Amino acid sequence: MPQEWDTTVDLLVAGTGAAALAAAIAAADDGAKVLVVESTDKWGGTTFLSGGGVWFPNNPVMRRQGATDTAEAALKYIEAIVEDVDPASSRARKEAFVNGVDDPVLTLESMV
Ligand SMILES: Cc1cc2nc3c(=O)[nH]c(=O)nc-3n(C[C@H](O)[C@H](O)[C@H](O)COP(=O)(O)OP(=O)(O)OC[C@H]3O[C@@H](n4cnc5c(N)ncnc54)[C@H](O)[C@@H]3O)c2cc1C
Repeated sequence: MPQEWDTTVDLLVAGTGAAALAAAIAAADDGAKVLVVESTDKWGGTTFLSGGGVWFPNNPVMRRQGATDTAEAALKYIEAIVEDVDPASSRARKEAFVNGVDDPVLTLESMV
């Protein structure tokens, strides 16, 4: 272990995809000193290649505009298309997704 570091930060973020940059921006917004590192010579990761559409069922923006989606309907849909084969596709993970939509949507909205 070196006795001195070149840089000291509150949060070191590895990668420059949507997940990494959302975390970096949220932490920086909260006043943290953030360093983002990327292992390739290009920013963006898989996110850069994507269509950019994000499915946030029953999110606060939809509700504000009168949409009548529900977490239960979203869970039923995911259960129908995603087989439960490992922890990442478990019922608990699906429930965490459909019940955890508001916080990231409101956070991302506040960054715009
Ligand atoms: C053609 C295509 C279309 C898609 N369209 C959609 C869509 O419309 N809607 C949707 O929801 N999803 C879509 N997806 C899926 C979506 O793009 C990915 O699920 C999402 O981008 C993953 O984001 P991420 O931040 O987790 O990872 P990534 O965007 O892959 O970012 C990971 C980053 O980490 C970096 N990294 C890895 N290891 C290290 C390391 N050791 N040190 C530093 N950096 C490192 C990588 O280089 C990369 O920059 C699509 C995917 C593809 C390929």
